Amino acid sequence: MPGVDTDRTVETVLRTVADHCDDLVALTQSLLRFPSVNRPPNGDERAVQEFLARSLRASGLSPELFCLDDVMGLKAHPAYHAGGSVEIPRDYRDRPNLSAVWRGQGGGRSLIITGHVDVVPPGDLEQWQYDPWGGEIADSRIYGRGAIDDKGGVAAALVAMTCLRKLGILLRGDLILQTFVDEEYGGGNGALAHVIRGPRADAVLMLEPTGLVICPATYGCQSIHIVVHGRGAHPIERWKGVDAIGLAFDVYNAILSLEAQRCEQARCLPLFRDLPVPLPLTVRRFEARTVGGGSVPDWCELQVWTTVLPNETQASLLSQLERHLEQELAISAWLREHPPTIRPIGRFLEGTWLSPGHDLVRSAQTAYRRAFGSEPPVGVGTSGDGFIYANYGHMPLLEVGPGPIHRAHAPNEYVTVDELVAAAQLIALFAMEWCGIA
Ligand SMILES: [Zn+2]
Repeated sequence: MPGVDTDRTVETVLRTVADHCDDLVALTQSLLRFPSVNRPPNGDERAVQEFLARSLRASGLSPELFCLDDVMGLKAHPAYHAGGSVEIPRDYRDRPNLSAVWRGQGGGRSLIITGHVDVVPPGDLEQWQYDPWGGEIADSRIYGRGAIDDKGGVAAALVAMTCLRKLGILLRGDLILQTFVDEEYGGGNGALAHVIRGPRADAVLMLEPTGLVICPATYGCQSIHIVVHGRGAHPIERWKGVDAIGLAFDVYNAILSLEAQRCEQARCLPLFRDLPVPLPLTVRRFEARTVGGGSVPDWCELQVWTTVLPNETQASLLSQLERHLEQELAISAWLREHPPTIRPIGRFLEGTWLSPGHDLVRSAQTAYRRAFGSEPPVGVGTSGDGFIYANYGHMPLLEVGPGPIHRAHAPNEYVTVDELVAAAQLIALFAMEWCGIA
């Protein structure tokens, strides 16, 4: 931040954000009280988007709400996927995106800060100690579905921007706040609508729960169904059948050995090297049936969810899986003759990658040091729609947001007041650092 008394400005910004703690809490609570559930093919994001638009207008900006169906070229875009990861073609009526530009004074780099406002359903209400739509506070924790994924982050970004404006700080580059619909269940098209419609920026900060770890890389992911074929038989003649469950155990073990192999591959990348399981893969369902009659099962399906590396494609992932199963199962004459059927389910979410030495990463690190006086943690962020901005919008992207990922999609999701304030402070300093001060 050349030309300004950095220490004093930083101190003022940090204090001002902290002084706005009540506003930040109240805004987060308000956002949580909108049940903006993503329920493919539909979603209930309109009310929260309109509320955000009103809040931005009150702070002197001119936000725009727009319908995805009005974005020219959206459906023809190579990254458009009608059904997301659940293969349910989406309906975007009444689900607006929001974009607000705070014009810079010129001569600086622009920044998009973006997050999604749709949330997954609360799940089993019995497991919630608090109303998932109540925004209740207990022990400095604000509870609600979406508290960290991503409404806490969105609230922090909005308050950070408001504080800078109230202080009369003038950024050189434009600061653009975007919120979008349909991120959950591999939606992706809400983010894509922003990328196609613009505006573009010199960098993107994607708000996802990272516990304020600065993430220059994010995972991609893919669901895959693998069907193992046996041969049905009457139970008193079971020797005439080929038990698909028994075969599926071999397939299960082969999949686990693939995870181990892929983790070794991932350890070559600096940010992945020290993670306990750098490229996690989960078999999340194992189900057998006797499709052809009899009671020796002739069909067994394994449902796999795997993370993917930033440079992987769906084709390379599937061919690796196919080759690996072929090798590992070669010992079985039956499986050689009747190889398992592999089917990717829904959208392939790509990962993102930015060199840890990139200027954007360094700016975020500088902001972190100034905000908290400690060395910034750098890591790998969760899979989400960052790849749409990074890989299709060709804008360098960082993922960072309040709260640890394990609270997302879980009962009693919450964000702490301290996490919110820290996020808003980091975002404010980062915007100043990246966009520059006039
Ligand atoms: Zn999210």
